[in-house]
Amino acid sequence: MKSVFTTLNDVPLLNRLKEALELKGIACIARNLNGAGAAAGEVVPILLWPELLVMNPLRYDEAKAIVDEITSFSPRDAAPWKCGCGEELDSVFGACWNCGSAKPEG
Ligand SMILES: [Zn+2]
Repeated sequence: MKSVFTTLNDVPLLNRLKEALELKGIACIARNLNGAGAAAGEVVPILLWPELLVMNPLRYDEAKAIVDEITSFSPRDAAPWKCGCGEELDSVFGACWNCGSAKPEG
């Protein structure tokens, strides 16, 4: 198995990627989904981050291309964003670590 995607708390995106890969017939499994949603201020070791794994390493490149396509950000998305709760978040975060709100579209 080979890890193709890791996220701290964007499990919905991880599930979306998993579905996309399965649609292409690429077997994959998600693990550590319980690692998401850690309490504010709690440090989650990256080993416990939700992760998507491709079962067949030979299909990794194909899977990675799909993941890159879905997760590719426009330049606008590269800017930090501000959550409704007032927290400023780096673009890599798909959800607010403070209140759990998802990053607004656009
Ligand atoms: Zn927030």
